[in-house]
Amino acid sequence: KAKKRLGQNFLIDDSISNAIVREAGVKGRDVLEIGPGTGALTFKLADVANKLVAVEIDRSLYERLNDRLKNRNNVCLINGDILKVNLWEYFDDVFTVVANLPYYITTPIIMRLMEFRSKIDRIVVMVQKEVGQRIVAVPGNKDYGVLTIAVQYYAIPEIVLDVPKESFKPQPKVDSVVVRMDIRKSPAVDVDEKKFFRIVKAAFSSRRKTLLNALHGGDILKDKAMLKSIIEECGVDPEVRGENLSIEDFARLSRKLAPIMF
Ligand code: SAM
Repeated sequence: KAKKRLGQNFLIDDSISNAIVREAGVKGRDVLEIGPGTGALTFKLADVANKLVAVEIDRSLYERLNDRLKNRNNVCLINGDILKVNLWEYFDDVFTVVANLPYYITTPIIMRLMEFRSKIDRIVVMVQKEVGQRIVAVPGNKDYGVLTIAVQYYAIPEIVLDVPKESFKPQPKVDSVVVRMDIRKSPAVDVDEKKFFRIVKAAFSSRRKTLLNALHGGDILKDKAMLKSIIEECGVDPEVRGENLSIEDFARLSRKLAPIMF
């Protein structure tokens, strides 16, 4: 029986599984699968990959799958938590990530993968539709926010497949999409990363506040008049909301603010 608290919604539509594996383009490559579950993607990935490492947290699913994989010598199945496993230990070369993600930890998983980005070329994951829309959003759109910028800073994302609820068992409440994220060779903008993301988070901390008030309230700079003139020097209107700023706008702001902010 599927465990809801572990986000277990198993793929039952073979054509979707095939499309995900095709979209990932993993022939001859090293692959990480997150949450292999009952193996809907695992066997197809093992067929084409050079090497497959799959991490499943559920002990009983792990045992059953391990049994069915025992004659596959290019597969390493790990019983563990993807948020804790040290991926450096399992990959010598660049690898691709493929998963039908457990939705309760989508963002933490994506953020964790970004920590290993120097060895990842591409991430192809099933997420709930609303999260997929946030990942690919453009400035001015209601879905545009911290997740958008966090992903687009490191990667170029694209929605590659719409997946109806009926493709899963048990059915989730929401529709899903498959997102492909190609990791950039270097981040989208050249900034002090920590300060850049402090500014981005402050800008989005209160959706109704103007940029000036949000950054001031977020303790980026105590001197409000100075903050205002810096924002203006960057060619940005202090009265707009954070959601109207492009990544380049945030980059210009953070380059000017970095030397003087707390
Ligand atoms: N890949 C299978 C499929 O497509 O049918 C299962 C996908 S299901 C949406 C998510 C899987 O992730 C489940 O097997 C669940 O047990 C596993 N999982 C949940 N939390 C996890 C974690 N922290 N680390 C590793 N696997 C996890």
